[in-house]
Amino acid sequence: MVTCLKKIFNHYFKRRNSYFHRKLILDDLTGIWNSEKFIHETENIIKKSSKEYILVFIDIDNFKYINGSYGYEFGNLVLVDLADKINKQLEYCGYFCRYGADRFLILLEKSIAGRFACNIQDIPEYIVHYEMDHMKYIKIPLKFGICPINDSNRNEPVQKLIDCANIAMRSIKGMHNQCAAYYSEELKKQRRMEIDIIHRMDYALANGEFCVFLQPKYSIHTEKIVGAEALVRWIHPVEGSLSPALFIPIFEKNGFIVHLDFFVYEEVLRYMQNCIRERRRIFPIALNVSRTHVDNNDFVERLISLVDRYQVPHEMIELEVTESAFSAETSALLNMIEKLKKAKFLISIDDFGTGYSSLNLLKDVPVDILKIAREFLIQTEESEASRIIIEEVVHMAKRLNIHTICEGVENKTQVEFLCNIGCDMAQGYYYSKPMPLQDFQSKYQMDGSDCNK
Ligand code: C2E
Ligand code: CA
Repeated sequence: MVTCLKKIFNHYFKRRNSYFHRKLILDDLTGIWNSEKFIHETENIIKKSSKEYILVFIDIDNFKYINGSYGYEFGNLVLVDLADKINKQLEYCGYFCRYGADRFLILLEKSIAGRFACNIQDIPEYIVHYEMDHMKYIKIPLKFGICPINDSNRNEPVQKLIDCANIAMRSIKGMHNQCAAYYSEELKKQRRMEIDIIHRMDYALANGEFCVFLQPKYSIHTEKIVGAEALVRWIHPVEGSLSPALFIPIFEKNGFIVHLDFFVYEEVLRYMQNCIRERRRIFPIALNVSRTHVDNNDFVERLISLVDRYQVPHEMIELEVTESAFSAETSALLNMIEKLKKAKFLISIDDFGTGYSSLNLLKDVPVDILKIAREFLIQTEESEASRIIIEEVVHMAKRLNIHTICEGVENKTQVEFLCNIGCDMAQGYYYSKPMPLQDFQSKYQMDGSDCNK
């Protein structure tokens, strides 16, 4: 009897211990290793061996949209499925874990990483589409940050190596044409600069380091100015003029773009109000609208109230929404554009031809102007196919009553090509570089100016 009870207790404690053991090392949702177990094992593996490894940081781009649009339950399904797919890809030759939320880590020997690197490119393909109700397909894009591990860094704490892989991954977040990046010294420098920018941004805005430039837009046929685009400049006391390409993506990530954009809008509106008061000639001015604004429910109301405070007619304001903004879940964006359109602002799709979106977009979005990307224009110099595509885009836009403008126009040949295919407007160094507001006023808005080039 006693032996029998002992057996039952032993069995019970074994099961209980194994339950607690599993809880300690496994992730509740996916059943794969949790981060503590992974870090512990990685520490043992890389420090005891002289082999080279790679540490891969995986993250789902825009996972919050998946959760937000389809619900947490569906989000969880995606995570479980992804864990399963990574498992199958690795075929037992690497270690991996869920690193919280929508992030996963993989440790692989470098000698077999080549094979996995090929597979890595395939993973996004595998999970690109989830069938919903046999009708809808959802894109689940993945980003991979890779930190090589060798004698130079194997004694670093594993957490630091994970941070490096994370930096590599973050360097390509939001870029739709790149899914993997390696950590490097260059990236480390970039990261340092990113941190410096973040530390200084509030001070810079409060102390007048940001200013607005205007770049004119010309009618291709009359060769006269028809409008302008507002472009922000950061005049850094040490670094000089910083390119927006450097700081805008950082501000889009951390949300500061909302403050910066409204600063730009207010500068432009104050300038336009003065021009109106001084009875100068005014042109529509285009403002860039970051994708980040879509998540702020009060964006449209805030913009309208600002424009009205400066008594600028809504039709004199054009809002440029970048085409890549349409790559993610679009219903909130469409809703925002409809409200802006109803308020009589002009709407243009910026960088047309560089993003994911299809021509189908034009059917759903009430746009006034298509702004053809510089990259697209450059391709026309080499490729007959690109020339045909741009020409057809311009024709189609015309039939849909949408005006067309091409950006980044730098030479006469490009102007002639655009003129021949019937493009309405152009913007670029051929006509003028962006310039400070005062210079713009002197050049284009003095009394009696014929506003020619
Ligand atoms: P974008 O909206 O596509 O603006 C056009 C960019 O092309 C500007 O760069 C402009 O200076 C440059 N550009 C104009 N003509 C030419 C040309 O002929 N050749 C070449 N190579 N480049 C030309 P910039 O000012 O550096 O701005 C870069 C991007 O930063 C802009 O691209 C826009 O997406 C963003 N950005 C700039 N200002 C703002 C802003 O106030 N708010 C927001 N949200 N984004 C802004
Ligand atoms: Ca623009």
